[in-house]
Order: sequence, then C-alpha cells, then structure tokens
Amino acid sequence: MTINLNSTTFGKREERLGSVVGYVGTIQDLAVQSRCGTLKDRGRCFSQSSSCDAGCVLGYISHIRDVAIINHAPSGCAASASTVLTNQTQLAAKRGLPYDTVILGTDMNESDTIFGAAESLRETILETYRRYQPSAIFITTSCVSGIIGEDVDSVITETGEEIPVPVIPIHCEGFKSKVWATGFDATDHAVLSRIVKPPRKKGNFVNFKNFNESARDDIVEMFRDIGVDVFMIYSNTTLEELSHVSEALATISICGTLASYLGNGLEQQYGVPYIKTINPLGVTGFETWFREIGRVIGKEAEVEAYIQRQRAIYLPKIEEVKKKLQGIHVILGMGSSFAFQVARVVQELGMEVDYIASWHYDSRYDDGAPPPHVQYLAEHSPRNIGVSVADQQNFEILNILNKYKPDLYLARHPGTTVWAIKQGVPSIFMADEYMSFGYKRTLSFAYTILDRITNRSFERNLSSRIRLPYTDWWYRQDNASFYEGGR
Ligand code: SF4
Repeated sequence: MTINLNSTTFGKREERLGSVVGYVGTIQDLAVQSRCGTLKDRGRCFSQSSSCDAGCVLGYISHIRDVAIINHAPSGCAASASTVLTNQTQLAAKRGLPYDTVILGTDMNESDTIFGAAESLRETILETYRRYQPSAIFITTSCVSGIIGEDVDSVITETGEEIPVPVIPIHCEGFKSKVWATGFDATDHAVLSRIVKPPRKKGNFVNFKNFNESARDDIVEMFRDIGVDVFMIYSNTTLEELSHVSEALATISICGTLASYLGNGLEQQYGVPYIKTINPLGVTGFETWFREIGRVIGKEAEVEAYIQRQRAIYLPKIEEVKKKLQGIHVILGMGSSFAFQVARVVQELGMEVDYIASWHYDSRYDDGAPPPHVQYLAEHSPRNIGVSVADQQNFEILNILNKYKPDLYLARHPGTTVWAIKQGVPSIFMADEYMSFGYKRTLSFAYTILDRITNRSFERNLSSRIRLPYTDWWYRQDNASFYEGGR
C-alpha cells in the first residue's frame, strides 16, 4: 500500500496491514492465510486491558531530543510520561548527551468535552514555546479530542504561524486502532511528512530503526568493519539528524513491526532501499539479514569476511551450550515480529517451541508482502506449532501455560512474566531487543536460558505460597473457546 505523506493522518494497521488482535490456530495456517490475504480478526468473549497507540506514541516520539510533546487529552492519558522521560533521560546520560524533551498536556475536562478545548490547545502551544524554545512541538491526540471532533489541524496551522519552529500533529486517538503498534506508524508518519527533507547527496550510512540502542557500540563497530556508518533511530536523535535519513544507503531494523512504515516510506518516497529479510536474531537471522545488507549496499565481500571471522569465534561455543538445552520446552508471548523471530532462535538452539502467543499480528507489511519470519517458521519448524494472537491477555496466557506446562516462558512486556512465575513457570522478560542479536548475544542468550532453567527453586517456592484467582474449571477450558465461534 502506498504511503501518503500529503495528509496529516494515515491508515491504521487493520486497514493497511490486515492486522488482527484475535486469532487461534497454527503457524502453518497463519502463514497460508497471510499469503492468501484471508486472515480475519476474531472477536473475544472477554478482554483484559491492554495498551493504546497514543501511549505508544508518547513512548516513541520522546526518544527525540530537544522537542516538546503536547498531549491534547485528559491528564490520565499521559500517565506514562514520567516513566517514559526517566527512561529517555537515562538513555541520553548513558551516551553523555543532554536530554531536554518535555511532555505536557492540555488536561481536558468535562467542560472541554462539550465546548471544545481549541483555545486551551492554542495557549498551551504558545506557552510551551515561550518557556522551553524546543526545536519542534508535536501535538498528540487522544480518544477525547477525537470523539468531540476537535479541529486540531486548524489550531496547529494557525498557531504554527506565530512561532518559528514546526508544530506537528500526530493523530493517534486511542480508539483509532485496536493495535497499539499503530503508534509507531503515527510517529513515523509525523517524521516522514514533516521532518525528513529530500536528499542533498548520498551518505555513507545506514538507518537502523530500533528501540533503546543497547547494542549501539557493537553495531557501530560492526558497520565500521565493513566501511559504513550507522544512524540509530530514534533514541537520542535530533531533528536536524532526522531530516537527512533520506540520504542513507539503506534502512534496516531490529523488528519488522517497528520499521515497516518508516522503512517502506523512505523507499517509496526517496528510493532508500529497505531490508525486508527476517530480522537479525539468532545466527540464521543475523546472517540472512547482514548478507542482504551487503548485497544491497555493495559490501558483499566485507560482510562475508566479517561473518566468517565471527563464526570461527562463536559457533563452536554455541554448539557446546546447545547440547545442554536439548529437549527444553518453551512458550513465547511477544509482539508480532519478536514472537516468531525468537521462536526461530529457540529452535536453532535445540529447544522445542510448544506454543506462540503474539500480542497482535500483521498479515502483511507496507510493501504488501507477508511477514518473512512467519513464512520462514512455517517452512522450517519441525512441527506445526499452535499460535494465538491475544493482546497481552494474561488470563489466556496462564491457561496456555497450565495446559502445556513448559520448562520456560519467554516474554516481552513485563506483566505476563510475573504471572507465569507465580504459576511456577521459569520465565525470562526479554526487555532488551538485542538479547539474541548476532553471534555474541545468541551465545549469551543461550547461557541465560541455561541459568534460568537449572535452578527453578524461586518459581517453585513462590508458586507454593501464592493462590492465583483461576479455578480448576477455568484451566480446563480450551483457549480457543475464549474467541467468538470457538475453534
Ligand atoms: S488515548 Fe484513549 S485509550 Fe489511550 S489512554 Fe487516553 S483515553 Fe485511554
């Protein structure tokens, strides 16, 4: 689907990518339905709370330094602001950079829902510039501003003429999409349409879309090894730097969910190639990804030399630890890309994947092709793994864990691991997106798993002292019955 940068709004994931938040089936079925374009969202009888795309935007756009973000919303919608700013401040401090981005809000109230809050938004924009003089002001919308039909774009156009920095809308009403990852696209749309400039000349760097750049030093060194610089997005970036991403040799990413909009948008708008292979987790993922980068930017020989050197160092060590992981049964609960990518790494390390729960699922990306990691897993998995798409629905995850009784539960997003541990299942919260990136981290990931499953006394002791709210009857239910129409 062509990305339209002439509008302030953009298509939500359900429309652009055929994304769903409800599905139960198998990896083979998911791969076939993704290729055929027949995947339908399944309603569920009951739903626990989850995240929203507006919260995702606050967390992601605030990675950019020296900007102001005004949340046009009731104050509760910005509840995550203090956590987000603490996180970004620490990421900047780690690199010795100043971080002065601020998050503010218009604190919409009952009266605003009737009479509107356009004037309040206008005053907040002007006062924000007067106090902070940021390099840009982003206005994020909310369910309330959306429901009352607030004309945010007109306020921004008028007020933007009064101050000398860009004032940029991000339309991310929480009810807009059931997929909170739509917030990544909302952020990318704002950057692509208002920040990025046409290229002046071709640069000698690649754009690397990621979250928290924890492996930055290794990645910079790796690309230096093949004679190329790397620009990591968005953590610790400035508007000036972002304005030149159109000059990159290519755009690459740690996660297909995260980068589809920016990567394909840059390719469609400015001809910057977007690397669309499986992502660089585990050995197979890393080598497939890095070789494709080498092919696209004309560095095949350099990439191959790097791979062979790293293989000689790490593959014997990985083979050694693999022997101790044989037969370990694993269940995963993660986002639409990581769930299937980490499942591949788990199999690569000799373990067995019993079940995958994906928080949402994109049946295609912005280039129209189905996610390569699901196709890869369907083709290479030794058996047809059970899959459900359940947006952080803990009640469903615990039902699945109780049924399969795995040796290990791997999850991204911390809430579910707490519950799994209380149930007695050893768990790892994979907060760091680079936990199984490349050779060195695949080896350390294998050892982390070995440590976790070798001593299980923590989970045993904790679960024996805790009574969870779920009854035996509940645990006997097939998780397919949680969806409309059953299996
Ligand atoms: S934008 Fe909507 S869904 Fe998100 S926090 Fe605010 S009210 Fe809740």
